[in-house]
Amino acid sequence: MTANAQTLWIRHPRACSDPAAAGGVVIRDERIVEAVPAGATPATPIDAAFDASRHVLLPGLVNTHHHFYQTLTRAYSPALNKALFPWLTTLYDVWAHLTEEQLAVASELAMVELLMSGCTTVADHHYVFSGALEHAIDVQVAAARRLGVRAALTRGSMSVGRDDGGLPPQSVVQDERTILDESARLIGAYHQRGDGAMTTIALAPCSPFSVSRELMQESARLAEARDVRLHTHLAETEDETAYCERLFGMRPLDYLEATGWLSSRTWLAHGIHFDDGEIARLGAAGTGIAHCPSSNMVLGSGLCRTLELEAAGCPVGLAVDGSASNDHSNLAEEMRQALLLGRLRYSPSEVSHDDVIRWATRGSAGCLGRDDIGGLAPGQQADLALFRLDEARFSGAENPVAALLLCGAHRADRVMVAGRWRVAEGRPLGVDLDELLARHDRAARALRA
Ligand SMILES: [Zn+2]
Repeated sequence: MTANAQTLWIRHPRACSDPAAAGGVVIRDERIVEAVPAGATPATPIDAAFDASRHVLLPGLVNTHHHFYQTLTRAYSPALNKALFPWLTTLYDVWAHLTEEQLAVASELAMVELLMSGCTTVADHHYVFSGALEHAIDVQVAAARRLGVRAALTRGSMSVGRDDGGLPPQSVVQDERTILDESARLIGAYHQRGDGAMTTIALAPCSPFSVSRELMQESARLAEARDVRLHTHLAETEDETAYCERLFGMRPLDYLEATGWLSSRTWLAHGIHFDDGEIARLGAAGTGIAHCPSSNMVLGSGLCRTLELEAAGCPVGLAVDGSASNDHSNLAEEMRQALLLGRLRYSPSEVSHDDVIRWATRGSAGCLGRDDIGGLAPGQQADLALFRLDEARFSGAENPVAALLLCGAHRADRVMVAGRWRVAEGRPLGVDLDELLARHDRAARALRA
């Protein structure tokens, strides 16, 4: 069955982030077939039109880093007001008890929340694999398919537990063979290639210091052999740099390079504490950076050098990060945070709302190694986010696109993924939201108990 049997014109939006599509876009099946100039009518014969005169049209937003399971430990008192390492060690003891049922509802909730914020492609980094979570990624694939969201799911891993001087409890670490076999199985079972892929699998050790050197190297080899992407946390805090220097005798980026990861196949979460020379090396390699502004502020981790990284040649994307350090999964709100944090790091004339929208769309798509999403040009996937400005917070706004960030857009009115509406009038279609919230709340209480 096709996504859109009809040729649909998203007609004359009130505003559009892409001037080339100011008159809207024409959708056939799962793709955009025409971008319509301002005031024009499509050259393509049209079967139907959606009146977007009250909407601001953006490409569907792309989230590049999350930990869906952490929605179950939001605003968790014992972990509040802590920096990364003590925050992690406090929460690992809770996360060690996670079950597949809990992960399923946490993933569903996080993806619905992202969709409602205008996000059409979600990434998740799941690295907690206790005995009860052998099928964690299978569970997430099933949830993403049910919701019709595009998903970049990463097979995370931890192989160095407390017995070996690591941070996580021994019950959530696995041996290298199991991790690699499972990674290979998931690629074979779920990884789709080419334009329009709805599910992709990447390999994602939690961080270079939570797995063995051998596993870093073997993950890079397997990713190369199977042509999938690599993802990990890197250069998030100064503590981490000191820890790597103690453990490996080198800085985090040197270790990344030494294990075969400094490449355009890799995208990194955070990427804050890089010096000028390291930024040049990352740019030359084409390594992507998932900028996580809220999380970086909550944990006091630092300010990502987004402009220098982008200028050096890195794809720079945006991410909400896990919900124990944000604690929402709202990518529209994250754009506002990125704009404000960018203004602190740089100056008002150096970081605009257009820059941030680029990070959340095309830049994020680049992190995921994709050029079929993140834009409104003909040939791209019909992934769209439409926002209305009829809330008190927007009243009086002159520039509708800038208003999304400056006035704090937090909920899309309509969201389309691969040519299908998945959110209408601010509600996720085919989802009983009240039932989901009740189920999620029960799971969170059970996990904390
Ligand atoms: Zn993270």
